[in-house]
Amino acid sequence: MSTGLGVRSDGPKEQSFIDPESGERIVQMGDLKFPPRKVWMKTFGCQMNYHDSERILAHLADLNFTPTEEVEDADLALFNTCAVRDLSNNKFYSQLGELKHIKKEKGKDFVIGVGGCVAQVEGKQLIKKYGHLDFAFGTDVIDTINDMVFRTYAGDSKFAVNSWDRSEDFSIETKVAHGTPQAFVNIIKGCNKYCSYCIVPYTRGKERSRLKSEVIKDIRKLVEYQGIQEVMLLGQNVNSYGKDNGESLAELIMELENINGLELLRYTTSHPYDVSDELIAVHGTAKKLSRHLHLPVQSGSATVLDRMLREYTPEHYLGLLEKLRKAKPDIVLSTDIIVGFPNETDEEFQATIDLLDKAQYDFIYSYAFSPRAKTKAAVMEDNLTDDIRGARLRHVQQHQLKIQEKIRAKLVGQTHRVLVEDFGAMGGVKKWKGRTNCNRIVHFRPENDQVDFQWHWVDLKITQATALSCQGELVRDYGKSAPSSFMH
Ligand code: SAM
Ligand code: SF4
Repeated sequence: MSTGLGVRSDGPKEQSFIDPESGERIVQMGDLKFPPRKVWMKTFGCQMNYHDSERILAHLADLNFTPTEEVEDADLALFNTCAVRDLSNNKFYSQLGELKHIKKEKGKDFVIGVGGCVAQVEGKQLIKKYGHLDFAFGTDVIDTINDMVFRTYAGDSKFAVNSWDRSEDFSIETKVAHGTPQAFVNIIKGCNKYCSYCIVPYTRGKERSRLKSEVIKDIRKLVEYQGIQEVMLLGQNVNSYGKDNGESLAELIMELENINGLELLRYTTSHPYDVSDELIAVHGTAKKLSRHLHLPVQSGSATVLDRMLREYTPEHYLGLLEKLRKAKPDIVLSTDIIVGFPNETDEEFQATIDLLDKAQYDFIYSYAFSPRAKTKAAVMEDNLTDDIRGARLRHVQQHQLKIQEKIRAKLVGQTHRVLVEDFGAMGGVKKWKGRTNCNRIVHFRPENDQVDFQWHWVDLKITQATALSCQGELVRDYGKSAPSSFMH
């Protein structure tokens, strides 16, 4: 049965009433009553996982759960896991272990669930191995989270659900956290690329796109009724969007441009193979599309890219950057790099350093290769040690910092429009921070410390720019509605 929120079971549905004695809102689902409870959630990994967590919390609100930052206060603890590299995997296992003592203390009053990519591939083993874990759920069943929580409160603990949604359609309605003008909108799920190092096709399944008409309707509603001004279109391989329906990302962006009140569009993450000439042209013409593109290259060596099964050469990739810069001269580019792919030679590694010099990225995410079960690269012959991988990672990062320091120094004196997100303490001083159209974070300290700038549009003049951070001074505050003369 379709609820408009993805696939839900035909089981009992939530209904709420006010308890006459306590005055509390109670949710009734089947025979069970759910008083107000707290959920603690820990998310690892990519933006897709953060978006999934937001969606899970939105569903749980219907079951009377509100989020808490303190796990000790929680009735339900959930992990949304990432299997892409060992590092976040290890952090998850140690944090899951730490919850043992709370379970021991509270017993059935403390429910623990594990979702996401690790649970998709090894949910059943997790349940067997961790006595204090109540349930595990995969990436394709998050819209049934309330059914699973219901099951545990009905007494059925120790289960794993990691089935795939086998339907050809991908149809959902976006859920956003209250009070923010930014929304993640998932437009395609899964990945068909099978890069030799990557576990995503095994944890997220095959590619399926939402229909363009559904996405446009969804975003129009978010803008009209929820005050959304900035949208991030999401997918593991987002520029493959629409292939299954004869549609394309380029067409979608051009149609979204027409939505009044939508100010800024971003998309992530892209595979170079699927960057079409049509999409490049859209970067030149679309007024609301961010001037930033994240385009993962992974390596600058043709032979490593071949072993990675990436389906492009460094020359083709650099040609794409050239075309993008021709279409949009001030476009800001970033990338992902993997160092130490099995048997990567010194020459192959040097080719990545050379590519960084040519590409002139604004920032990069860089990782040491981490073998993942099921992938082709995990069983390739490999003569590299962890020490070599660590040294190459440091080398890449230091090299890139020098490039980005020079690029960013040029920002000083420029004025950028920024949507302010929140504030933090920098060296003991309260500073607000926001993101420019081209995805650079700028910090500023206004003269008037009493103003709440959250979700204000402001113009900031950059006063200081290092490789890692930009400082600005407030030139103009437009309040919460974007100014009509939108500056890009
Ligand atoms: N779809 C994107 C693309 O085509 O590049 C990437 C998605 S992946 C979840 C995010 C990044 O994790 C990749 O770009 C890659 O740099 C890194 N990554 C994936 N598998 C990895 C592995 N086995 N070891 C190290 N880094 C890995
Ligand atoms: Fe993984 Fe991205 Fe390759 Fe898909 S395209 S397999 S998500 S790296």
